[in-house]
Amino acid sequence: MQPRFSPSWRLSVKRAARAQTALLLGLMLLGATLLRLSVLTAAGAASSVASGGRVEWIDVHTHLVVGRSGGRDYDGAVEAALAAMEEAGIRKMVLMPPPQVSGMPGNHDYDHFVEIVKRYPARLAFLGGGGSLNPMLQEAGQSREVAHGLRRAFEEKANEILRYGAAGFGEITAHHLSHMPGHPYESAPADHPLLFLLADIAARGDAVIDFHFDVVAEEMKAPEWLLSPPNPQLFSANLAAFEHLLAHNRKAKIVWAHAGSDMLGFWTTDLSRRLLTKYPNLYMSLRMAPGRTPQNHPMERGGRIRPEWMRLLQDYPDRFVIGGDQFFTSPSLRGQGPGITFSQRAPIVRERTRAFLTTLPPELYRTIAVENATRLYKLKD
Ligand SMILES: [Zn+2]
Ligand SMILES: [Zn+2]
Repeated sequence: MQPRFSPSWRLSVKRAARAQTALLLGLMLLGATLLRLSVLTAAGAASSVASGGRVEWIDVHTHLVVGRSGGRDYDGAVEAALAAMEEAGIRKMVLMPPPQVSGMPGNHDYDHFVEIVKRYPARLAFLGGGGSLNPMLQEAGQSREVAHGLRRAFEEKANEILRYGAAGFGEITAHHLSHMPGHPYESAPADHPLLFLLADIAARGDAVIDFHFDVVAEEMKAPEWLLSPPNPQLFSANLAAFEHLLAHNRKAKIVWAHAGSDMLGFWTTDLSRRLLTKYPNLYMSLRMAPGRTPQNHPMERGGRIRPEWMRLLQDYPDRFVIGGDQFFTSPSLRGQGPGITFSQRAPIVRERTRAFLTTLPPELYRTIAVENATRLYKLKD
């Protein structure tokens, strides 16, 4: 689930969009006069990888918003997702329930939308568990003692999700900050026995785990911008537990969600590099919305990619996918809440994603935008 965006971000997106438009116009003029000249710039590379003048990609991390009561129009929300895909050149999407806790109004899991998703096998895939496995994990919470009944129910649900055709489990979390009222704070040990069990099931089924994890490398006080409660005033270190999970089953593919939009300052390119080197089963999905620590975001002001990010992507090209965390709401939905707020930001995420992808060299663009997602999520044509 998404955080609050900083207000300055919209301005920088607009500036980036204006700069991009100007650049494209310039390129068209240049192309008319210098037809056979190859222009070895990032923008030139982008134009060569775009299809039909558009940059295409696969988004592996998206959600539906249907409200907390009433008709809960999943059809309408999926229609909105398909329309956005058409408009933005998004080839395929992976839909998943957000990481929920028991008793939240509007709770849902994959079973609410799976039949609709299956009508579009070439465009949509799904993950399950955000509304079932994740609440079980959060309820088990800090205790590592798992009652036999809970363990069995968890295992049965996980197997059922794969039987229904999910590409894996998501959105699952062991640390999720609350960014607004109605947006839950969630915390469980990342090396919880239920997560080890899920890793084993994922490994057996060749499935992914989409993992939201606000990493804390060292104990820290909550920053001022973070509302407390529900967030605690002190965050305990959780990185070592995450490493236990990554090491638990090397065949379990764990996709760490929201790379690039770091919240607490610890998810640096140095940390990513260390973990990607040590754990070959770790992947990262890039969310182009900036987090609260813009210095850890791939894009600089002005739309350039940071050199340390470019080196990371080039050194680990097979380990990154695009996960926009876009929310799609049914057009009939009224009211307010985190899902609706996030859905209003989705067009900015798409614009920002496009701007990011155009900075990549063509081969890296194809790998990160399309090929890795196709392989990892076993997407069909
Ligand atoms: Zn998330
Ligand atoms: Zn999400």
